[in-house]
Amino acid sequence: MTPNIPRTMGQQFGRRSWAEPWKIKMVEPLAETTPDQRARALEEAGYNTFLLKSEDVYIDLLTDSGTGAMSDRQWAGMMLGDEAYAGSKNFYRLEAAIQRHYGYRHILPTHQGRGAEHLISRCAIKPGQLVPGNMYFTTTRLHQELAGGRFVDVICDEAHDTSSLAPFKGNIDLGKLEALIRTEGAEKVAYVSLAGTVNMAGGQPVSMANVKAVSELCGKHGVKLYLDATRMAENAFFIQEREPGYADVPIAQILREFCDYTDGAWMSGKKDNLVNIGGWLAVNDWDLYEELRNQIVIYEGLHTYGGLAGRDMEAMAIGIEECVQDDYMRSRVGQVQYLGELLTDWNVPIVKPVGGHAVFLDAKAFYPHIPQSEFPAQVLAAELYLDSGIRAMERGVVSAGRNPATGDHYYPRLELTRLTIPRRVYTQAHMDVVAESVKMVFERATETRGLRMTYEPKYLRFFQAKFARL
Ligand SMILES: *Cc1c(COP(=O)(O)O)cnc(C)c1O
Repeated sequence: MTPNIPRTMGQQFGRRSWAEPWKIKMVEPLAETTPDQRARALEEAGYNTFLLKSEDVYIDLLTDSGTGAMSDRQWAGMMLGDEAYAGSKNFYRLEAAIQRHYGYRHILPTHQGRGAEHLISRCAIKPGQLVPGNMYFTTTRLHQELAGGRFVDVICDEAHDTSSLAPFKGNIDLGKLEALIRTEGAEKVAYVSLAGTVNMAGGQPVSMANVKAVSELCGKHGVKLYLDATRMAENAFFIQEREPGYADVPIAQILREFCDYTDGAWMSGKKDNLVNIGGWLAVNDWDLYEELRNQIVIYEGLHTYGGLAGRDMEAMAIGIEECVQDDYMRSRVGQVQYLGELLTDWNVPIVKPVGGHAVFLDAKAFYPHIPQSEFPAQVLAAELYLDSGIRAMERGVVSAGRNPATGDHYYPRLELTRLTIPRRVYTQAHMDVVAESVKMVFERATETRGLRMTYEPKYLRFFQAKFARL
């Protein structure tokens, strides 16, 4: 591979270089594979990177979910697990960490984010109600639909434009939200579902001014505002970096201020909170909490463990403290931006500005000759794996699924392949290798053919669908 990448990247991009605020104490060897081995593995996996074996993968950028490295403090915390069925001391540590940094009153642990999404959707949506939100997320929308709700996208238009450089492309369009509430009536709206940052838009943040305005609008109409807090600490970093008045405010304080505008949140601890498994649900309203606490014993476990071991709750409590540190977050997002800057420098089409957890490749721009019905983003993920053993993920028509009413594919405007960076796992040298591989795949894009789907599961098909070359 081309070894001519300068080592002082920061200076090349007009800023000082950063370095990770940690050093490596334990290593896990990576296996490299041959092109023949990769071709065979991909064929067996039906051209779906979710079906590859991890031992056949070199650099794994499938997801940042549960793939982070825990700190020595977190591992030490695992030894402090109090595995009592009820009232484990680790629950109270977790509860205190969430109350301190996210600010909500009533806390329920869940086995992961979708456990929390399931419960809030069950308890806060009545069949036939609408759930407006800033772009859908796969599991979030599915749980809203399974509860009888209908998701309505009220994100700003810039979110759908991969070339727009707007700083807060995750913002809700207040006009769209107000029009929906006025035409449908506030009682038809279950709640507003706000996510920071917006995964499907490329990890784009929401501004403090926007959440404040949405909160005021919701308050005026008596509609609740719930937050998907999965990557809200990363969102806080962007507010610090981009929003006037926040440059000197610590991330922990920005996070807390943002959450204070909302009535509750669900969380995948596997992202911001730096654990391999876990999630939580938090609300301020006592009556809703009572209902959730009643339901959680059916689906997750008792309300003081919610499907988690005591040691997992301890690790998450410590992860919460660590993820709001400014130096950690600067290196976390800095690494993603480093990869984005390399690719931009080489004119590879990506979603801009680069988001907090991933670089999203614009598959439509890679493959203008492949129609969306032939899954260009799935093709791109397959090509990257063939080139170098790097595993990425499709975020396009396959992830979007089908409209339950008509049975047609949803055709999202964004057809993206996601290079998701795990937290505290890979080095800058790994990012160089990734960037070179993407460049190679881009250079041969015109020769690449599309895929057809040979197997389609009923729900969240991107996880298990299979494909063949056309
Ligand atoms: C991952 C994720 C979820 C679901 O969480 P799981 O822990 O994977 O169940 C919900 N919302 C967003 C934005 C996510 O990224």
